Amino acid sequence: MKNQFSLSIIVLLTVLLFSFQLTKAQQKSGKTPNVIIILTDDQGYGDVGFNGCKDIPTPNIDRIADNGVKFTSGYVTYAVCGPSRAGIMTGRYQDRFGFGRNPLLAPNDTLQGLPSTEETLASVLERSGYSSMALGKWHLGTHKSQYPLNRGFDEFFGFLSGGHQYFPEEWTLNDISEIKAQFDGYRTRLMRNNGRVDEQEYLTDALSREAVSFIERNRSKPFFIYLAYNAPHAPLQATEKYLGRFNHIEDKKRRTYAAMVSAVDDGVGLVLNKLEELDIDDNTIVFFLSDNGGPEQHNASDNGLLREGKGSLYEGGIHVPFAMQWPGTVPAGMVYDKPVISLDMFATAVAYANAMPLNPIDGVNLVPYLSGQKEGVPHKALFWRKYDQKAYAVRKGDMKMVKYKSENDELYNLSDDISEQTALDLTGDKHYDDLKALYAGWEVQMQDPVFLGLMQNKQYTQLHSERYQIVNPYYPDVLSVKIPEGYELVWNDEFNVDGLPNKEYWSYETGFVRNKELQWYQPDNASVKGGLLCIEGRREQVKNPDYNRRSKSWRINRETAEYTSACIKTRDKFSFKYGIMEVRARIDTSMGMWPAIWTLGVNGRWPANGEVDQLEYYRHDGEAKLLANAAWANEKMQPVWDSAKIPFSDIVAKEPDWADKFHVWKMEWTEAYIRLYLDDELLNTIDLSKTINADGTNPFHQPQYILLNLAIGANGGDPSNTSFPRKYEVDYVRVFQQKNDKNL
Ligand code: CA
Repeated sequence: MKNQFSLSIIVLLTVLLFSFQLTKAQQKSGKTPNVIIILTDDQGYGDVGFNGCKDIPTPNIDRIADNGVKFTSGYVTYAVCGPSRAGIMTGRYQDRFGFGRNPLLAPNDTLQGLPSTEETLASVLERSGYSSMALGKWHLGTHKSQYPLNRGFDEFFGFLSGGHQYFPEEWTLNDISEIKAQFDGYRTRLMRNNGRVDEQEYLTDALSREAVSFIERNRSKPFFIYLAYNAPHAPLQATEKYLGRFNHIEDKKRRTYAAMVSAVDDGVGLVLNKLEELDIDDNTIVFFLSDNGGPEQHNASDNGLLREGKGSLYEGGIHVPFAMQWPGTVPAGMVYDKPVISLDMFATAVAYANAMPLNPIDGVNLVPYLSGQKEGVPHKALFWRKYDQKAYAVRKGDMKMVKYKSENDELYNLSDDISEQTALDLTGDKHYDDLKALYAGWEVQMQDPVFLGLMQNKQYTQLHSERYQIVNPYYPDVLSVKIPEGYELVWNDEFNVDGLPNKEYWSYETGFVRNKELQWYQPDNASVKGGLLCIEGRREQVKNPDYNRRSKSWRINRETAEYTSACIKTRDKFSFKYGIMEVRARIDTSMGMWPAIWTLGVNGRWPANGEVDQLEYYRHDGEAKLLANAAWANEKMQPVWDSAKIPFSDIVAKEPDWADKFHVWKMEWTEAYIRLYLDDELLNTIDLSKTINADGTNPFHQPQYILLNLAIGANGGDPSNTSFPRKYEVDYVRVFQQKNDKNL
């Protein structure tokens, strides 16, 4: 109760604060600012021009510091990638939600990554009307529920793992389903939104290009870009374009590292140029920082004067190059030396977006401090913890207490010892007692890690023998049947025996059948091979044996059919009432194709017998759509439809290679409703209290039989410019019913 009370006070105060934070630029434009976070990976503190780097020019990254402020005491919340990113993305110390380890690549594990209780900056900004894009390295979970589009982002271009190869020829794995070991994640094709694309550019260049394109497309609305370059993280790989700039560097490692930083710098230049060209630079907050310090031995980075590097709680691990610009609002050319932390980006962004995070945040809006509106320091103290190593650090003012790989606490005065060379005597030091008490007060609020991390890779694999076993979306399913809880498998065809479809299960439609479609149905076009039923659409002429040009029926007055295909059905062989039917298939989306998965009631004339279409793909009002419907009869024996129509363009926008993959269509049928799903997403619920035929009968309270077919023409569109043959492949059909409730 007490907590709730104080929380609501905080929320109230925050609301009041936010409402007073319109800046001059905002008053002028009346707009909420765009936010861009440019994050590099494993870059050393000393490896930017604005921190004095001599051998790697970074003129564009330096522009951010020149246009705004460089933070000389800028920190991240952790000394390696994953937890640091979790802090950035939530504005909260990641140990608050048990993210104290680097997450593993574990596509079946919903817990490896950001907990569902946490909001990303994209989610919060979305409530204020922002569009958002994540680019590059994600590293916040590889389960589907953790994909950027499921964590508040509108777009994604990049990869899920903790690192990646830079050259397209090394992206040899289709996607996460082909991964067999933790570091295979470096070799997957890149993702666009939820699907995979064939990218041809050097990774860093591709990320820059996509960021610029997003700015172009979203120039007129507020946007948030999380541009997470994986450069200059290992492997050290650069193109000649960038390597050629560093012939003066003899050390090959440092030379490649320099080239990688230079590629990022070019990308930062493209982003800044685009903002200026569109005249939105003074309405855009741009942050630049590295996710942790440089691992100097590993990638030839340079943390300058700072002690140690990546992984360490000495300054070299957590004290990073950090700059920010907001022209017109934050003074240009400023140097700010008070300690700030990556969490402050979230706090600053939401303050000016007038967006309200649901969770209390640890960051501070920096702008009032930079503009001089607020005196003092943004943070009373900053904290770090490495749970597995029992290591920690706390900084207040210039004083830092740290325990890292040592038996005892150490105390440093960073104002004259930034390299942490001379540990001060602890006995009786009032700073020490103060820092110790502050840390203890913070630490009790933290949670133990909720998942095993990179350091426990082996242990995790031993505990999860099926760690990487997920269905490969591009291939037939070879895993065992997954039976829904409380159900049993009552009928299935896995199409695992090559040859003709099983004649115990399936019969055929023949000739011209319905809807003035163009194809002639014949058994010859259905075959089973390699674990799949293949229905082939062909351009071939068949003479109509019933032809009579005087007939009024299209089935008879057509002399020939120009196309053939197949329709198979379980009529008189299998039907079922209530249960779950699941079909995994890869459909052909070419012009003219009309593939379908559907069921019909065993008794009565259509549509009074009841029709359910788990899938129809056709052109409706000239636009390709996926449909999920049911139909019954009105008094004129015309169909009454309950229909969901999903534009195919929406599906491809989220998943560019959707048509290359198999998908699962599911019908969940009870006495009360029929629910139709695509890949577990509910498309349509049909309320069976409304599906009453004109004669008072309910067609969905009788058994239905299954049909699979590829129609050509009619609603499918004109196939005359489409190449043939076309393929509609079905991996399996499964029917489950509740135990002790068989309604066959
Ligand atoms: Ca890193």
